[in-house]
Amino acid sequence: GGGAPVVSGPVLGYVSVVIDIPARALSEPFAYGVPLVLNEACQVGATVLVPFGRRVEAGYVVARSESLGKLPGAEGLEPSRTKPVREVVAAPAFSAASAELAFWMSREYVAPLSECLRLLLPPGGAGKVVRREDGSYVYEPPTVTSVTVRWVSLTEEGRSFEPAERAVRQRQLIDALSCGPVTTRELNLMNGDLSATIRSLEKRGVVTVEERRSWRGCEGSTTLSSANASAPKELTAGQQNALSAIARATEAASGDVVLVDGVTGSGKTEVYLAAIERVLARGRSACVLVPEISLTAQTVGRFRSRFGDAVAVFHSRLSAGERLDQWDMVRSGAARVVVGARSALFCPLADLGLIVIDEEHEQSYKQGSSPRYHAREVAAKLAQLHGCALVLGSATPSAEALARCEAGSHGGARWTRVEMPERPGTARLPEVIVADLRREFASGSRSIFSKPLLDALDEVVERRQKAVLLHNRRGFASFLMCRECGCVPTCKHCSTALTYHERTHTLECHTCGSSYRVRPYPEYGSACPKCGSRYLAKMGLGTQQVEDALRALLPEDVAVIRMDADSTRTKGAHQKLLEQFDAAECAVLLGTQMIAKGLDFPEVTLVGVINADYALKMPDFRAGERAFDLLEQVAGRAGRGEDPGRVIIQTYLPDEPVIRAVKTHDRSVFTEHDLGMRREALYPPYVRLANVLVWGKDERAARGLVMRIAEELRVEFGLDAAPMLHPVVETGSAGVEFSSRELLSRPQILGPTPCVIERAKDRYRFHIIVKAPLGCDLSGALSAAVSRAGTRPGVSIAVDVDAYDL
Ligand code: ADP
Ligand code: ZN
Ligand code: ZN
Repeated sequence: GGGAPVVSGPVLGYVSVVIDIPARALSEPFAYGVPLVLNEACQVGATVLVPFGRRVEAGYVVARSESLGKLPGAEGLEPSRTKPVREVVAAPAFSAASAELAFWMSREYVAPLSECLRLLLPPGGAGKVVRREDGSYVYEPPTVTSVTVRWVSLTEEGRSFEPAERAVRQRQLIDALSCGPVTTRELNLMNGDLSATIRSLEKRGVVTVEERRSWRGCEGSTTLSSANASAPKELTAGQQNALSAIARATEAASGDVVLVDGVTGSGKTEVYLAAIERVLARGRSACVLVPEISLTAQTVGRFRSRFGDAVAVFHSRLSAGERLDQWDMVRSGAARVVVGARSALFCPLADLGLIVIDEEHEQSYKQGSSPRYHAREVAAKLAQLHGCALVLGSATPSAEALARCEAGSHGGARWTRVEMPERPGTARLPEVIVADLRREFASGSRSIFSKPLLDALDEVVERRQKAVLLHNRRGFASFLMCRECGCVPTCKHCSTALTYHERTHTLECHTCGSSYRVRPYPEYGSACPKCGSRYLAKMGLGTQQVEDALRALLPEDVAVIRMDADSTRTKGAHQKLLEQFDAAECAVLLGTQMIAKGLDFPEVTLVGVINADYALKMPDFRAGERAFDLLEQVAGRAGRGEDPGRVIIQTYLPDEPVIRAVKTHDRSVFTEHDLGMRREALYPPYVRLANVLVWGKDERAARGLVMRIAEELRVEFGLDAAPMLHPVVETGSAGVEFSSRELLSRPQILGPTPCVIERAKDRYRFHIIVKAPLGCDLSGALSAAVSRAGTRPGVSIAVDVDAYDL
């Protein structure tokens, strides 16, 4: 459209440009010509101004080529119709390799290219282009900026400089600098304002002043006494095996994957540290992903104490400035090791030599918003792009990783599993005792704590040791239920069950954040909203309730530390609670799943699980995997030191394979059952799974669009039956005959159906689940179907490839 000029002068090749309009989230790049004058500046990663319709828009160069040929966005375009890039406003913010990764993610996860690209931009973005009133455009650099610090140091001559007797200030300055450079700020703090003295000695060539970049976000990683700094003298046989496998994968230089399948405390982190040491020795860099939750605790300290200043850290609690500085440390090469949550994959490490994903099975590696990528898959792609190895570590590997190692390869890379079944030294795996709550109940006990757990707690107190108790629930009591009709009050805007918070007497919606006062029940009356019964009772125990019971039970000199979402809301609270636990002589740490991971306190001899059934009963095909991971992880907190550890799991379901596997330390009991169930019910890793979510305020419009997408998907897959709006029936309960059934040969479309949460924030929600054979181009089909189905005003679509939440 518009009368924008067409290139008239000579053109030095062409570029693909992604236009950066957040609201439109344009998925496709557009091709432009590169005028002679911009030849040098117009590189991949640069921010440019281009004509777009009648306007000028800002965008990023994502590809460059001499001819239009295969350039993305150039389909059907003739050179004579190509418009020129108007201006290059900022130097490259990302590399060509990063752009390639963005293209791959956009296709794989059916996400707009611009959204994928945003992950790769420096924190604070690459600046923006603003239109002035007179129609001209101006580039505004990012508002997040770096800060510099002035460092003062002695020059070569300065070292032999002797101040005159009465020059006291000069003496002070020389003394302060005798051990090395000091910042002006520090000098002035210690000695009063020395600015004049610094200036005069600078003129005489005694000292120099240098502006240096300050790296915010490097302070205070850990002060826990038990953080291990030095490398062990001797590696275990398992650790040596793992390192050789990693060396072979590195040698192959083709993105090979090593799964380090090691029990908790077997020394996986030591393997990562040793492998990174080797990579650094070759002048290459390394990227380590750990679950967000373990980033505060000891992990970062372990990496920083081993690799010092060369470590950049990314987690969600960094300020914008800190994030930018950590990023620049990486970009400048000052940091060659990055430790962070999933997004750390996108920081600009040059010459990447190793990627590590610790706790590979963790759900937090899957991003919940667009692009809905899985860090494991992106890391595998990145390892291939860089020709480096990918190391996955876990005590409870995902079914996906196990299946790929079983097959030996995946997506052109070799997948190898290395087992580390033992803990180093004298540390042993803890004894696991299952406390059958049915029996406790039958014997008349109404206590939260079973007899075995009470006895074990007594022993811990007597021996002045430490215990960790897991209670993976939040709030005081979880929900209200009508004892007469079974009704659970739900949110008026969503259909989720409301959580009851005792301290505030409120019912809270964890989907939209709405809060309802319960006493005197203005919204719900004083009775059941459905049948009018007055017998609304609390169901389920909250961590606060368990805490109260513990305090009543234990002597006063035993520290009870509660760690859950409520007690760790403020910055640094998490760390402070851990320090309290570390410092206490005899203590019980009670917490939600956040205490299950990564903690390494050698004095912990008892781990208790208040009720394992909450985890087991989640309505999700990964519930077993998650419950197993949770229990195995929390059990792993016990017996990491000299004293043997003990684990007590309270449950009403002692015969579940998950419980039996944790009890015997024999994972195969669980794995066989779990894989059998998934094979039977056609779940990953035997199929690929996608979830297409459609939502809108207008129920009919949303329903119309979801039906249309399902139809288009059928066309795409060559399936005939017309879609019907019917509920998806979940199958695959225990006790079925496994392995008799054929694997999926053609895609299946389930739904469309209303979502489990039918309404959220006043929007009606529908979804389609697609199951596809492993080799199928699921992303391509989804992308084609969704784009053919078109859009409806006010209706949103989210495509989730390799979905976790259905
Ligand atoms: P994981 O990451 O598998 O849970 P870690 O690497 O944290 O295991 O190791 C558990 C504990 O064992 C740590 O305190 C660690 O310092 C120690 N450790 C690891 N490897 C060795 C070894 N080869 N010899 C002695 N101690 C070791
Ligand atoms: Zn009722
Ligand atoms: Zn709600």
